[in-house]
Amino acid sequence: MSPASLDRLCIHTITTKPWAIETSAAKFAAAGVKGITVWRDTLAGRDITKTGQLIRDEGLSVVSLCRGGFFPAVTAADRAKALDDNRLAIAEAHALGAPLIVLVCGALPGQSLTESRKQIQEGIAALLPECQAANVKLAIEPLHPMYADSRSAVNTLGQANDMVEAIHSPYIGVAADAYHLWWDPALESELTRCGRLQALFAFHVCDWRTPTIDLLNDRGLMGEGCIPLKKIRSWVEATGFQGFNEVEVFSTRLWAMDQDEYLKKIIQAYQQHV
Ligand code: ZN
Repeated sequence: MSPASLDRLCIHTITTKPWAIETSAAKFAAAGVKGITVWRDTLAGRDITKTGQLIRDEGLSVVSLCRGGFFPAVTAADRAKALDDNRLAIAEAHALGAPLIVLVCGALPGQSLTESRKQIQEGIAALLPECQAANVKLAIEPLHPMYADSRSAVNTLGQANDMVEAIHSPYIGVAADAYHLWWDPALESELTRCGRLQALFAFHVCDWRTPTIDLLNDRGLMGEGCIPLKKIRSWVEATGFQGFNEVEVFSTRLWAMDQDEYLKKIIQAYQQHV
């Protein structure tokens, strides 16, 4: 397995959360990074079209916008509200020049996962006209089952593939995140299936620390944990995937570091472990 190319390195703005988006874009570009995935919170108070231009002027590709989703709700009125927020995300992605939105699909404690998945599928299908009009795709990101209570009822790549197959649109695919999927014995075969469906839209990497001390904000940098990233990347690339390898790390510990030093570590970790 040859080392991952810097040309395919994308970093999520959340990874270097202390930096404003303008700083992230300038520092990533100066370090040789080629892609950026933009989290919506970084766009607050900004002209989104101009921000997209600024990113491209740095020589970076806008890989995706994070995130839409959170479809399930008890009442129809709340489900309609969720759809409106997703329509707003599609408009933002269009303005930014992002071809893709990553979906954290949502779940409700107290509502069955089956019912939540039904609401998620209906919600995504309802957005197809807007996706088509804006030429923006949506990627279902299955989340690790530890988030099945309140963040996503889609917990395996198999479930995401089932949904993609049922909706059956070139605008709907999957974001495969190694952090969420590494443990799944069906990962290789479901990646192959996802490739066959032409639905593998994004690949996210970081690592799983032992012990993990926070369910959200204790992800590891690649090489700090137990995820076989090179093996998973080989499965991803065997599907014909030619997109970016996206570094997405939420870490209170790493956000506390000097972010310039951290960026150097990210690039080193990417070259050694992905
Ligand atoms: Zn992810």
